[in-house]
Amino acid sequence: MRGSIAVGLLFLTVAGCRRPEPAPKPRDVLLITIDTARADHFSYAGGSPVETPRVDALAEQGAGFTNAITPVPLTLPAHASLMTGRLPPSHTVRDNGSYRLPASETTLAEALAGAGFVTGAFIGAEVLDSTYGLDQGFATYDDDIVDSGPSGFLYYPERRGEDVVKVASRWLQAQGDGPVFAWVHLFDPHTPYRPPEPEHSRFGSTYEGEIAYTDRVIGTLIDRWSERRGLDRTLVVVTADHGEALGQHGEKTHGVLVHDATIRVPLVIRAPGLHVAGTIAAPVSLIDVMPTVLALVGVARPSGVQGRDLSPLLRGAALPWSRTSGYAESLYASFHHGCVPLHALREGGFKIVRGVADEVFDLSADPRELRDLARAEPARSSGLAAALGDLIADVAHGEAERVTPDDEARRALAALGYVGTPSPRPASAGPPRDPREALVSLSRMADADRRVLAGDLTGAVAGYRAVLNAEPWSVDARVRLAQILISQKRAQEAVPLLAAAVAIVPGEAFLHRKLGETLLATGNDKAALAAYDAGLKIHPESRDLRNGRWSCLNKLGRQSVMLAEAERAIAADPSDGAARYARAMACCGQGRVEVYLAALEREIAELPGDKVLESAIAAARAEAAPAAKPR
Ligand SMILES: [Zn+2]
Repeated sequence: MRGSIAVGLLFLTVAGCRRPEPAPKPRDVLLITIDTARADHFSYAGGSPVETPRVDALAEQGAGFTNAITPVPLTLPAHASLMTGRLPPSHTVRDNGSYRLPASETTLAEALAGAGFVTGAFIGAEVLDSTYGLDQGFATYDDDIVDSGPSGFLYYPERRGEDVVKVASRWLQAQGDGPVFAWVHLFDPHTPYRPPEPEHSRFGSTYEGEIAYTDRVIGTLIDRWSERRGLDRTLVVVTADHGEALGQHGEKTHGVLVHDATIRVPLVIRAPGLHVAGTIAAPVSLIDVMPTVLALVGVARPSGVQGRDLSPLLRGAALPWSRTSGYAESLYASFHHGCVPLHALREGGFKIVRGVADEVFDLSADPRELRDLARAEPARSSGLAAALGDLIADVAHGEAERVTPDDEARRALAALGYVGTPSPRPASAGPPRDPREALVSLSRMADADRRVLAGDLTGAVAGYRAVLNAEPWSVDARVRLAQILISQKRAQEAVPLLAAAVAIVPGEAFLHRKLGETLLATGNDKAALAAYDAGLKIHPESRDLRNGRWSCLNKLGRQSVMLAEAERAIAADPSDGAARYARAMACCGQGRVEVYLAALEREIAELPGDKVLESAIAAARAEAAPAAKPR
């Protein structure tokens, strides 16, 4: 408190008496991202079907933007843009699940950590796991998602907003007087819509219910923050990675199209001493947030930032237009459904969307983008087309880094509709495909996924088969079908589906692993070993693949090879429980259970508490117990 008054006085002296007192520099930064929040579902912006009193209050005390967009309606790429102030072609993260933000990018957290902030991130869903590189600059990156969804191969590993807020609040409690930066990611409005009470009684299982719930959770977070740090020295930013189409343009959720339904997002900036009456209608982008935060806390922006500092708008001044802030893209249907990529530019109240053809919309007269003016207004169309072409050519294109998420992560992403396996459509499949065509398959896929969760496996199989009929190159439909067959103990029938998937995308280690597992389950150990080895060629560090290989070697009676490999693995990493288990199995797993159990006990003595060894010991004890019982 005392510090802030002194700083204020100092400014006053320097600035002289005629100017209004400059806004005090915030000490702390709280960034809240709501996953899947439509701009028109926040009442500060007007016309919302649901009330959001806590976000509205922040907008009222600070500034609420009504015309903010994300450059890409996909969680990971959008957050990458938010955190770097750069467009997807430049930071190179173009999709969920298979890209990592390169270490060469400078994030908001890195810039703030460099200026002495203690940084903490609290993540609501797997899609932003640290694997994907957004942990850069965070001293604490809490992405410990506990599976709270139904079990089975499709599940929804997300944390409820209140649980994310709990861990963030606990972290906040432990912080001292120095500046802190906290990022809180609230995933609830993402499908499936299942708000808790009391929102469930009020809204049912709806998107509106999740928005109302998220607003309540934001209120809890703000209350905790006020109690512990006070709000008078905190810069609060609330925004979203993308919207939700809710059926507009035939899209149920988000990610494929780039209409305003999914690219317009809420944006509220509450900075101490900066109050804007009414709302701000100037068009802005998520890439503007990072430079704005840095400007408000007085930290230099890194080079390469493409967004603008919005603080003049917060002081009631105008801000020149920047074309980069009007750009949006989605390559999702291109990666996953063999469609053309989509690029869009909003400029001068109009918007061009470039897919199979160019479409032009008048955003003020036709905000739902229903009337394509491309033919009616050829001059405007060609102007926007040239502007979009120039922008795409001008924006720096970096070199992408790919990641291979492990099986659990991939399962999680698939369950969320972030299907992790791009499927190249063969050129022979016909003329360029409109991303709107992908919506049909996506909707069928989502419907089949819902049937799996509801236990209607017959209906689900029919759904996945329908997807395969429309998109014979679909790896995801094949993998889902195979999973169902495996769960029904029909692994033999799953083998050809997975073998076909491997043939379509031979570079996906995950598919080789799935094939290996399935072959192993059918007793085809030699073929299984070949599948694991093919996967290991692509992803040599994968422990999942290595463990599968050892299972094969064990079944094939090649324990000496297995033992040598396990020894090498333990030498490289003594905390490798799976390798210790393999060593015990290779040396003693074929003989008497007491000898095997003793070998496992020796391993766990060197690695106490290891989960793999604990469960192996429990199994061996159960096997030994009947024999030990006196008859
Ligand atoms: Zn998202």
